[in-house]
Amino acid sequence: MKNQHIPRKRFGQHFLVDQNVLNKIVSVFSPKDGESIIEIGPGTGALTEALLNRIRALTAIELDRDLIGYLREKFGAEESKELTVIESDILRFNFSSLIEQKEEGQKLRIIGNLPYNISTPLIFCLLEYVEIIQDMVFMLQREVAMRLSAQPGNKHYGRLTVMTAIDLHSECLFDVPPGAFNPPPKVDSTVIRMWPRKKQFEIDCRSSLAKIVSAAFSQRRKTIRNGLRKLISEDQFEIANIDPKQRAENLSVEDFVTLSNVYSRDL
Ligand code: SAH
Repeated sequence: MKNQHIPRKRFGQHFLVDQNVLNKIVSVFSPKDGESIIEIGPGTGALTEALLNRIRALTAIELDRDLIGYLREKFGAEESKELTVIESDILRFNFSSLIEQKEEGQKLRIIGNLPYNISTPLIFCLLEYVEIIQDMVFMLQREVAMRLSAQPGNKHYGRLTVMTAIDLHSECLFDVPPGAFNPPPKVDSTVIRMWPRKKQFEIDCRSSLAKIVSAAFSQRRKTIRNGLRKLISEDQFEIANIDPKQRAENLSVEDFVTLSNVYSRDL
């Protein structure tokens, strides 16, 4: 096939072609033999190849069936290398299945030039697996990377920021222009590193927290007194020691946790 695989829009296929960018991603990820390295969306294998120049073994998860055979063929010939290609929709993939046979305590290191059309739901899926994740390095559209790494008070600070920051740290590493891809995406891209917090927040009820964060940001121009009127009383704001005249974007992640713990205690 397949030197002429035609990139499929519905799978968000924008293949990295800039060798400098590929090397830079691998270099910041710094994979080592013996680690459990997972690549999401290997495509035609540009990043896969750059990774396999550094390490012996890798597991890649790809949805596009046309690419699976191609990848197996391309990398199967190299006996010293071990590429396991799993055909799966990453949004339905059970990451726990990858560590069952591994040594205890072994965690996953995940990397990928992600399909941008599913990047937000994918991040939410990955949050379910923070306990078995060591770190992640992703290419994302710049807009999403800004939202993930935003600080309170910033216009990008929102529901995605808070729901992710509950479990993960996010740090933007470098920007990548559209010309590094084939075909070039319409948006700028950023490589981001994410890793689990060491000290976890004490959250009494996660679904209450999700509910409050959603409600607060769905009316982000209002004060939280108004935006959360149906959920949080004046007394509860006082107990949480949070000024209800603020807007959602001024609350820290910790403030949201405190507020939701006060809320769920009174349910
Ligand atoms: N890593 C490659 C390709 C990135 S494009 C490169 O940098 O060149 C995004 C890749 O994710 C494509 O290969 C696409 O087929 C794959 N993909 C899209 N949706 C997916 C899904 N739901 N599950 C797994 N892979 C998916």
